[in-house]
Amino acid sequence: MAQLSKDAFVFGHDILSVEQALDAIRKRVTPIEQSESVALCNAEGRVLAGDLIAPIPLPPFANSAVDGYAVRFEDLANAGETRLPVKGRVIAGAIGKGDGSPCAIRIFTGAPMPDGFDTVYMQEDVTRDGDFAILPAGLKKGANARPAGEAVAAGSAAILKGRVLRAQDLALAAALGITTLVVHRRLRIAVFSTGNELTEPGQPLGPAGIYDSNRALLRVLCQKLGANVTDLGILPDNRAMIAAALGRAGDHDLILTSGGVSMGEEDHVKGAVEDAGALTFWRIGIKPGRPVAMGVVDHAAFVGLPGNPVAVFVTFSAIVRPLVAALSGALYEPPLPLPVIADFSYRKKPGRREFVRVSLARDEAGQVHAKKHPRDGAGVLSSLTETDGLIVLPEEAESLAPGETVGFLSYAALL
Ligand code: AMP
Ligand code: MG
Repeated sequence: MAQLSKDAFVFGHDILSVEQALDAIRKRVTPIEQSESVALCNAEGRVLAGDLIAPIPLPPFANSAVDGYAVRFEDLANAGETRLPVKGRVIAGAIGKGDGSPCAIRIFTGAPMPDGFDTVYMQEDVTRDGDFAILPAGLKKGANARPAGEAVAAGSAAILKGRVLRAQDLALAAALGITTLVVHRRLRIAVFSTGNELTEPGQPLGPAGIYDSNRALLRVLCQKLGANVTDLGILPDNRAMIAAALGRAGDHDLILTSGGVSMGEEDHVKGAVEDAGALTFWRIGIKPGRPVAMGVVDHAAFVGLPGNPVAVFVTFSAIVRPLVAALSGALYEPPLPLPVIADFSYRKKPGRREFVRVSLARDEAGQVHAKKHPRDGAGVLSSLTETDGLIVLPEEAESLAPGETVGFLSYAALL
């Protein structure tokens, strides 16, 4: 039987993989239930609370996809061209009909197909001879006509619940005649920074001070995910004060902090979470960003991000974004890394997922190459402003050689 050392499960020895953390989030987090009705014009970025059922079909009626001539397929000759009298004209917004005899009807894009007419010739393919249209052979039945309900059937789910609504979703809702949507309420996220060295931008900087940049980052990232953010400012490295602040923020859906989660004796966030609530796990196998604490404080999920700004950025995209999605009831698929060619070599420890900041450039052959930023410290914020995205190196990888294909995630896809 295996011998477990006394400290096998003590903090610092038990590293959770990103996948295990995401799995725990998927299994253990239940979304908020409250919803509200919002006007379409205010629904961008909100999370649809229930399937949107189409009240009408789309298109609502069969119509022409082109400017041309509507015919009944059965009136066409079996072989060779067909000569039909043109009887009538139907424009978008009007109704047209034939007289029952074989004929063609002049029709325009979006106009309803006259009763019994099923096929449309594009005007470019038709020769006019006075009141007659000469129609070439070879057109298929139903060509250039859009049947009713072709895109969306009445009564079907046009948009699935959990969709984070984009402009095209709102356009589809508008096409269905809908003016308001039921969405989950916005998530309430409390954000604070910890660190005795931190100074609020705008205030004078002491000799050992740095300005707090993580809150500026986290506020915006949370707002981009549709949350209402409560800014709780900067807290000193003091366990009791951090625990008290956590306790006061327990009515939020999520509390996000940065700094103070490493193993140093001045890292008080984990202890404060234990005092104010329960620490579930910490240390995730991710670089930059390894120490990430997670827990529950009162009603709120808690995530303690590391202090280094690049680590904050990376762990937010890898852990907080899926957690926010799970809490807010949003469907979430991790972004798909796109293949690019690495122009650099890299060594890493197996067992953790690593992210490398890179810029992209295209060579003469059209292939996309990734160039690593020269400064890869987790504190170098400018390495994020001067690059296009991150290369993901999977847990099992140990090294990377120039010329290898790697997965690239753009900042836009990540956040
Ligand atoms: P910590 O995780 O608290 O050990 O912090 C790691 C590094 O990140 C230290 O150099 C901190 O000064 C820095 N840091 C922590 N919090 C912030 C913040 N809010 N903004 C900018 N840098 C920070
Ligand atoms: Mg600190």
